[in-house]
Amino acid sequence: MADTKLFLETARHAVGLACIVTRHVQSRLAHIRAISKEDKSPVTIADLAAQAVIAKTLAERLPPLPLIAEEDADFLRDPKNRAHLEQALEAASLVWPNVTADKFLSAIDMGRAARDSRPAAFWTLDPIDGTKGFVRGRQYAVALAGVTFGKPMLGVLGCPNLTPKAVSDYDTPDASGAGTLYSAAEGVGATVTIGCDPNGVTTPLKLKPRGEGAPVTLASSIEQGHTSGALVDRATARLPEGTEIKHARLDSQCKYALVARGDADVYLRISPIESTRKECIWDHAAGVIICQEAGMTVTDVANKPLDFGVGAKLEQNRGVLAGHPDVHAMMLDAVSKL
Ligand code: AMP
Ligand code: MG
Repeated sequence: MADTKLFLETARHAVGLACIVTRHVQSRLAHIRAISKEDKSPVTIADLAAQAVIAKTLAERLPPLPLIAEEDADFLRDPKNRAHLEQALEAASLVWPNVTADKFLSAIDMGRAARDSRPAAFWTLDPIDGTKGFVRGRQYAVALAGVTFGKPMLGVLGCPNLTPKAVSDYDTPDASGAGTLYSAAEGVGATVTIGCDPNGVTTPLKLKPRGEGAPVTLASSIEQGHTSGALVDRATARLPEGTEIKHARLDSQCKYALVARGDADVYLRISPIESTRKECIWDHAAGVIICQEAGMTVTDVANKPLDFGVGAKLEQNRGVLAGHPDVHAMMLDAVSKL
């Protein structure tokens, strides 16, 4: 990316604005559920509003770059879903005064332009990663990354419910309500900001040495269907004898944030052996660069670098393994014995 500082500041700003929107919608879950029969309504509204706000902010402040994002505006363009459109517009108007339906829908659809192409440089966005966590009032992340030649070069993770402290239960939202914002750019390092204010104080995330035989904390999904628990358990059982295992369970790319902070040692995501499912790029790109810049090692489960340059999926890779270099090596060895 041409001007890393400008790109990073703008990406933080865009994610910060989106977090205002998603927080607002999540705080009104009960109200939205009361007026809509569809349990996914809150996420639909927040997802689409967050995507619009981020796409518009990037387009206004930076040279044009394709955006490969999870959502599109087809649902909101359908006159049947007028009520959702109105609620999404209301949420976006918190940070986008005088937004019109036309501008809003066009901004969302900026995210579909390059979905099936392979540009050399692009943004990728998951406006709400961890949909199920969001709907349950738990963890989710606003995840934006800049990718160049197949590698994430810059990433921002807005984690409005993730506490900055080490705790035994990360699923429960941050009691202070501040949340945390993480960002990184290649060669610049990774930082955490308490609160989702992009102008807040940034604290560098630095790799800490691990004591020999220290417990291994595994970051994993709440949703059982997203990772093969059986394979993760079998891999974990092959770690050096006597290794104490702890678990940090939470939705979304907040798992990468915990690894980058050193509050989890490893994140292993692996589909069942029979599955041919490939991971979506927007579910990993931001978390990957933040972990790497915090000194962590990230590969797939066969130790191949993740290749973000072949479309909307990680077509060349199987699973993801992100962790402290020592634990990554131990876990890779364990996985190779499966
Ligand atoms: P989690 O890390 O468990 O919170 O997963 C969140 C992400 O899982 C979402 O962004 C989805 O794209 C992705 N996802 C949805 N279904 C599956 C699946 N069957 N296997 C793996 N990941 C999935
Ligand atoms: Mg996602």
